[in-house]
Formats: sequence, C-alpha cells, structure tokens
Amino acid sequence: MAVIGIDLGTTNSLGCVYRNGKTELIPNAYGSYLTPSVVSMTEDGKLIVGQPAKDRLITHPERTVSSFKKDMGTGRSWKPGEKSFLPEELSSLVIRSIVEDAQNYLGEEIEEAVISVPAYFHDEQRVVVKRAGALAGIHVERIVNEPSAAALASYFTANEEQNMLVFDFGGGTLDVSVVDCFENVISINAISGNNHLGGTDFDRAMAEYFCFKNGLNYYLLDLPFQQSILRACEQAKIKLSTQSVAEVSLVHLNKNYNCIFDENVLFNTTHSLLESCKNVIGKAVKDSGFSASELDSLILVGGSSKMPVLQHYLSDALNIPVLKEENMDSLVTLGLGKY
Ligand code: ADP
Ligand code: MG
Repeated sequence: MAVIGIDLGTTNSLGCVYRNGKTELIPNAYGSYLTPSVVSMTEDGKLIVGQPAKDRLITHPERTVSSFKKDMGTGRSWKPGEKSFLPEELSSLVIRSIVEDAQNYLGEEIEEAVISVPAYFHDEQRVVVKRAGALAGIHVERIVNEPSAAALASYFTANEEQNMLVFDFGGGTLDVSVVDCFENVISINAISGNNHLGGTDFDRAMAEYFCFKNGLNYYLLDLPFQQSILRACEQAKIKLSTQSVAEVSLVHLNKNYNCIFDENVLFNTTHSLLESCKNVIGKAVKDSGFSASELDSLILVGGSSKMPVLQHYLSDALNIPVLKEENMDSLVTLGLGKY
C-alpha cells in the first residue's frame, strides 16, 4: 500500500508519492499541485477546502480562515462561520483533501502518510499534527522537518559533506536553517525565522504603492477593495518572476486605477522587507557557529523565493552561492518522497 508525503503548509499544502524510483507530485481536482490551506463555511454549514475556499476570502472573508497552521498546539480556535474549530481540525480537512486527491490519482486507498513540519515545532505541536492526520483518517507514520526534506531534495549524493543554508520563504513566514548533509544524513545545526514575514508583506507593500500612485489611502479603503488590490498585486508579483514588467489595473466605482511594476519599483517598495530577510539569514549563520565562507550554498525554497528581486538581492548581499532549484514551491514535498 502506498504511503504519501504531505507538506502541510501555512499558505499551500502539497502531496507526493514515491513510485518507480522517483517522487511524483499529486495533482488536485483543479489540476494544480498546490492546495491552498484555506477553509470556508457556507451559510448552510458546508465546509469548503482549498482553491474554492481561497476564492471566498474575497467574497466571504468572515466565513473563511487561513494561516491556522501558526496556531497548531496553542489551543486557540478559529471560527469560519458559527462553529469553532481547532487548528488541527482545520488542518485535518486540508489533509483529507490531499488524501482524496491521492486516492483518485493512484486508484488505491491511502492509510499512511509522512508529514513535514517546521524545524522549530516542539513535541506537543508534532503530536497535534499526528492528531490532525488521525482526524483525517490516516496514520502519520513519520514527522519530518521541512528544511531537512528540502535539503535532501537538492543534495546530490556528493561524496563530501555539505553545509547548506535552507531559506524557506512562504506566504507569511520565513524559516532559515543551517543544515549539514553527509551521505543522505541531514542534521540541523541552527534555525532562525520570522513568523510575520512572507509573500503577503510584499503584496501589501505593492498595494500601498499602487494606492499612493493613484491618490488613494490603502488603510481608508473598504475591505473588499483592499482585498482585490492585494489579489491583483500578488498576481503582478508572480508575473514579475517570468517577465520584466507587470501592470495592475482595476476598476472601482466606475473609476480606473493603474500602476506599472518592474523589478526596480519592487526593490524600492520592499527594501526593508528584503533587509529583514538578510537579517534572519545573518542570525542563523551566527547561531550555527560557521562563517559564511564555510557554507557551501543557500537553497531557495518556498513560493516567495521565486521573486527575482529577492534572488538578486541575496546574491549581491551574501558571500554564499545562491542555488535556484526549479521547483522552489515543491522542494520540501519532493524531499518527502525520499523518506
Ligand atoms: P507556505 O510555505 O507559506 O505554505 P508557499 O511556499 O506556497 O507557502 O508560498 C506562498 C507564497 O508564495 C505566496 O505569498 C505567493 O504569492 C508566493 N508566490 C508563489 N509563486 C510566486 C512567484 N512566481 N513569484 C513570487 N511569489 C510567488
Ligand atoms: Mg512551506
């Protein structure tokens, strides 16, 4: 029976299966590998998970919850509508959705999974993740650290020891780890992070700039207009990882609003965020006891690592070669297949 790997992310979750000597990502019902870690409740009490739930962040913000992974093990509950849920209950819905996608993809029952968690998760939080799996009807065979999985995915069985920095930049969190790889054994030497720094901060900085350019004050706008500006800015940010210019153009109350973004504008509007990223790296390196010259590479992981402005900034600011793997947002998942 197949065991699947699940990267249970704060923003997006992914599933994989190891077959015929390689890791395959599992597509969901919408043809994507990424399932947004979002849950929404309809007026008649039905729970919606993933992309359709994410779409409801704009239309039904008060009935939709996201980023609940941050509260795993804190006992805090979330209310997408009338009923309260613990983060593990919400996470179990995301896990269930991935298990069902895997069953459809593989044509067999799935009863076991390996799930990745941030390196800083303490024992109690790991127990809570196992409980989320149980609530989703699966046995969690193993809990793996996210940076270890990412390092394993990018570490070629080089015969020599390698010290790597894993820079995992997601939607709302940055985790930096110093890992030592030798003969497929990965050990984590230091971790550092910022739980309030991620891709959404770039979206907000862009949204503020968009408003400034159009004579609006972002903080005085109604919530739905703020949300649509944020969504449009996120799309422009994503476009900028494959093209040099992206335009944000919106119509609101019969008025047109426009703004052009390129790497230069993005650099100027997000400079303090980029600097914060560098500082988190500095702290991880310092805590590891290594000097930058003793580190072999920095591996870019997570959706937000796809930003060229960040890649260029880090390449210029650091003395460490920056490794750009092709599948930054699925590197953790690809590594899970190797466990
Ligand atoms: P998490 O680990 O938090 O679950 P991900 O690694 O999936 O999250 O990262 C999600 C973030 O990545 C979002 O903020 C999204 O806007 C951003 N992102 C995804 N693709 C790109 C891209 N091509 N360029 C820039 N940012 C991207
Ligand atoms: Mg992640």
